[in-house]
Amino acid sequence: MRDIAHFVNGQAFDGASGRFGDVFNPNTGEVQARVQFATDGEIDAAVQAAAKAQVGWAATNPQRRARVMFEFKRLIERDMNSLAEILSSEHGKVIADSKGDIQRGLEVIEFACGIPHILKGEYTEGAGPGIDVYSMRQPLGVCAGITPFNFPAMIPMWMFGIAIAVGNSFILKPSEKDPTVPLKLAELMMEAGAPEGVLNVIHGDKSAVDAILTHPLIRAVSFVGSSDIAHYVYQTGTAHGKRVQAMGGAKNHGLVLPDADLDQVVKDLSGAAFGSAGERCMALPVVVPVGKKTADELRERLVAEIDTLKVGISTDTAAHYGPVVSAQHRAKIADYIQIGVDEGAELVVDGRDFSLQGFEKGFFIGPSLFDGVKKGMKTYQEEIFGPVLQMVRAESFEEAIALPSEHQYGNGVAIFTRNGRAAREFAARVNVGMVGINVPIPVPVAYHTFGGWKRSAFGDTNQHGVEGVKFYTKVKTVTARWPEGDVEDSAFVIPTMK
Ligand code: NAD
Repeated sequence: MRDIAHFVNGQAFDGASGRFGDVFNPNTGEVQARVQFATDGEIDAAVQAAAKAQVGWAATNPQRRARVMFEFKRLIERDMNSLAEILSSEHGKVIADSKGDIQRGLEVIEFACGIPHILKGEYTEGAGPGIDVYSMRQPLGVCAGITPFNFPAMIPMWMFGIAIAVGNSFILKPSEKDPTVPLKLAELMMEAGAPEGVLNVIHGDKSAVDAILTHPLIRAVSFVGSSDIAHYVYQTGTAHGKRVQAMGGAKNHGLVLPDADLDQVVKDLSGAAFGSAGERCMALPVVVPVGKKTADELRERLVAEIDTLKVGISTDTAAHYGPVVSAQHRAKIADYIQIGVDEGAELVVDGRDFSLQGFEKGFFIGPSLFDGVKKGMKTYQEEIFGPVLQMVRAESFEEAIALPSEHQYGNGVAIFTRNGRAAREFAARVNVGMVGINVPIPVPVAYHTFGGWKRSAFGDTNQHGVEGVKFYTKVKTVTARWPEGDVEDSAFVIPTMK
């Protein structure tokens, strides 16, 4: 059995905990490797290496740091195919989708290539007599990232791409379910010229997360995963004096107004609800048609569209989506479908019996569609994170906008309409962090920022963009005085600008 080691101080590092996690191939259901889980002592060694490396890295001028990011981008583009194959083999998403996962992370690296410009501080000449004021953004020291299984390339790059470009060193604790691509990214950062110790990868479960959250040298922790754990990470990390941003789960709604282009809506909903087997925090698992006519027509078209979907192994270029990540997750999705039936929703398409010939042990599940889903239902309130689309019918725009606004999650939301005024009002009023107007998966581009509201994110700063730079830096403001002439009297009152 292949063992997956940690990566510390520029090289593979074999841990000695004797604890491992299984890494499956979701297409076949087989265990393909086991990943080592780090001890607290091993995590401490990684943090010490990172702290040592950070001093020289922070003193490296920003343009040189940017050159490493440029080279890293080139290397990822060079290795795109092999990275995507590895990603698909551990996650289960189809190869084209794995390339998208890598590409969206790469866009943050492209943003980080401009870091010398972004890091420029503010300057006020002549704030008082002979007084100038300027500010600078300085790195924090050692930062850490804890990432989920569903974007093993993009989310690590959201985090370390910015953290390292601004002069920090980084400890990455990727998901134990698909740890190989994050490791490859660290190797490529070294090949790109990052000094040893600037990016370290340690594997583990809750115990590793706790060691990170309580380590005195780690200044900031970025987390992405499910909401209960995000909340725990936020509370524990901040209680230990760290800056924490913790992104959680989601239940994104797509509102369909009567004037929407239903042909386009059906295509958009199908990709956003079932793509990547629904394992996206920006998936669209809830559709809210406004008015009976819209709902009936949409339902009919959705059923026909679902019939055309092909579920296949992740290397099948004709497949729309592949298996889910684990047998346990497959069972959880199937359980939610049963709960939906039991609580009275109408299961229009049932994907539970799907099995792929030749891959019967793979973690496949077909697409499911519910109609008649109501606000109070458990399956509406909770995140299913699978290929299940739930239709909640609304009578009016007001009823429809209240649904995402009042939901416990507030990650993303979309509206489909030709009415600019309705869309504008929706964007302004809806109580959700990221809004799409005729865009089903409104993941903002890298130079804007990513972050949900309510139980979808704990902490005040978003991922990437200028917010990401703020998260990984602290501001220092310098007030400088170069007096001319006579000695001035002592001042015993707070100085003010006269
Ligand atoms: P998860 O919460 O199970 O795991 C996330 C990370 O936390 C992993 O690194 C894992 O090892 C660690 N972890 C697991 N159990 C822990 C515990 N008890 N204590 C501390 N740490 C623990 O999430 P997942 O299943 O890997 O990913 C799917 C979830 O992530 C979904 O809820 C999805 O919506 C969410 N997600 C959110 C965003 C976002 O930006 N809001 C993006 C992607 C995924």
